Amino acid sequence: VCGDALRIRQVLFNVVGNAVKFTQRGSITVNVKPADNAGAIQFAVTDTGIGIPESKLKEIFGEFTQVDSSTTRKYGGTGLGLAISHRLVALMGGDLSAESKLGAGSTFSFVLPLLAAKAAEPVAQERNAVRALVPKTSSPPLRILLGEDAEDNRQLIRAYLRGTSHLLDTADDGAAVFEKYTNREYDLVLMDVQMPVMDGYSATRAIRNFERETGRAPAPIYALTAFAYREDAEKSLAAGCDGHLTKPMRKAAMLELLETIANSRAHPRLAAAS
Ligand code: ADP
Repeated sequence: VCGDALRIRQVLFNVVGNAVKFTQRGSITVNVKPADNAGAIQFAVTDTGIGIPESKLKEIFGEFTQVDSSTTRKYGGTGLGLAISHRLVALMGGDLSAESKLGAGSTFSFVLPLLAAKAAEPVAQERNAVRALVPKTSSPPLRILLGEDAEDNRQLIRAYLRGTSHLLDTADDGAAVFEKYTNREYDLVLMDVQMPVMDGYSATRAIRNFERETGRAPAPIYALTAFAYREDAEKSLAAGCDGHLTKPMRKAAMLELLETIANSRAHPRLAAAS
């Protein structure tokens, strides 16, 4: 069958991740089989873990919802994984639902209407043909998300990027960076460490958490740190950044970083596109 492999993987990654997290002993089973309606496939993840009380079964698909407040302390997590998974399954035409018995375990399942594989072949060929027509530039365009609260710094970076093919999206606090990151894929995040609402360290940690929970390939995140503070750079690495640029930022340093990232074969998304 043919479907959105990336999204299906994100959902399974999250649901299986939860099963592992909430199961101390017993088993976790992933069952994939043709569903009753033709062409549809049923996915079910069953665990023998702590289970979920009946009264909470619907709520767990809400944003930032965890069964009890001690969950965060005991198991970590954000309470976002299932909300995102539920939305992704709905977008693919299914419904993610849960059955559970407290103390005995849970089953998360969904049915997706998928196309028979034969129908998919021409699409793949077409895509290759389109790819062959796209001229290879030395540096493929990057989709960049800049988290920066100071308007003049945002303008500076926008000016640096003028004349390049890179696309810039901006957010002026850490929470907005996180929100944008969860809604779109980016090839690079530039993160000012000092921002209102949520600082760059927390936003980076939230992004890394989201990537782990959804199975999205991690994007490079570079912190923008003040020249004078060396500990900022260390803190940003600890939060999950790949490196940092010191402010005031020089155009050459910035373009060099973009060139390196754009040509990095290690970047899974770019490697797939080349
Ligand atoms: P997170 O795991 O980050 O807290 P989720 O949205 O993935 O967020 O899950 C929300 C809550 O649902 C969890 O905190 C937990 O209380 C409950 N939950 C999810 N999956 C399971 C499971 N397999 N067994 C028991 N509880 C679960």
